[in-house]
Amino acid sequence: MTKLISFPTISRDTNLPLVDWVEEYLASHGIEAHRWPDPDQPHKAALFAHVGPWEEGAVVMSGHTDVVPVDGQPWDTDPFDVVEKDGKYFGRGTCDMKGFDALAIWALVEAHKRGVTQPLQLALSFDEEVGCTGAPPMIEAMQPVLPKGSAVIVGEPSMMKTVTGHKGGQGFMVDVWGFEVHSSIMHTGVNAIMEAAKVIDWANHVNAEEQARTPSPIAAMFDPPWTSLHTGLIEGGTAQNITAKHCTFDIGFRAVPDAEPKAWRDRIMDRIKSVEADMQSVHPEARIDVSERFFVPGLRPEEDGVSESLTRALTGDNGTHVVSYGTEAGQFQAAGYSAVVCGPGDIAQAHQPNEFITVAQFEAGHAFMNKLVDRLAA
Ligand SMILES: [Zn+2]
Repeated sequence: MTKLISFPTISRDTNLPLVDWVEEYLASHGIEAHRWPDPDQPHKAALFAHVGPWEEGAVVMSGHTDVVPVDGQPWDTDPFDVVEKDGKYFGRGTCDMKGFDALAIWALVEAHKRGVTQPLQLALSFDEEVGCTGAPPMIEAMQPVLPKGSAVIVGEPSMMKTVTGHKGGQGFMVDVWGFEVHSSIMHTGVNAIMEAAKVIDWANHVNAEEQARTPSPIAAMFDPPWTSLHTGLIEGGTAQNITAKHCTFDIGFRAVPDAEPKAWRDRIMDRIKSVEADMQSVHPEARIDVSERFFVPGLRPEEDGVSESLTRALTGDNGTHVVSYGTEAGQFQAAGYSAVVCGPGDIAQAHQPNEFITVAQFEAGHAFMNKLVDRLAA
């Protein structure tokens, strides 16, 4: 883990030195890894590998290589060095999620050395922390190269609990372009701020409606048990007596996993189109530009899921757990894999200054990997 943490793979920066190191490390143990270089970002690559019989049905261990920035955070230690203190390993990514990555690399090598009858795969992505945008092309790239896996374990911190569901979501940046006039004759202008407010207030109404609805059995597992719309940023205007020429804001939704994300996307787009039409009836040059930022599908609890029964057997945890954060598990599931989230550490420590994983959780992750390899070898 110390080696992986030493590469400052903040999402905006390169992850290639880490990928090079993992590739060489696996090669030194006789394992061939495959990399998928991102054609749009030559400084980033994903890496995947397979050990055991060359056949379908592998267990896939999935982790991301990127970490969130440390800018402006008060760290007591060097974030890119692992420091052990008071039963905790401190360092950026110890919890989210290079601790798991290190354990998965260990398990892959161990499975290769011991020999297994069921294959094991490793998949390391990038750009997870900027909207899970690295995993979908990696999953697509894996399919023609490796035999298809049957169970995916996404090792995001879950305290080694089996998480079978999470919400999905999408984000949009919206630029409203109005028409400037003196506010005394505002009926001849288009006020970008006031038009933006129509979309945002619509979101308030939708939230109230969704909250009032009786949740489906899947939605009922979540807190809150409904799909919500949110705006977290807004900026615009020039002066108190000018109808605003420009206003920019974000809007996004977090959808319960049995909601149809495309329908939510369309609902937002329809609302924006209708506000734009009103604007253009006053001034034809007024318009609204929308850019779609990220899309993360939800993770639906599976019936008799292969991944779920595997992690339950390995951890002994039979509780029901869902989380409110998005992960790559929904993306694997959307690509036709059985997937769960199960990894060491507590999400509460992710992204924080002085991020840590407890030695006990790291050891629990190690014990889990050991049992996994035993099971694949049996
Ligand atoms: Zn993560």
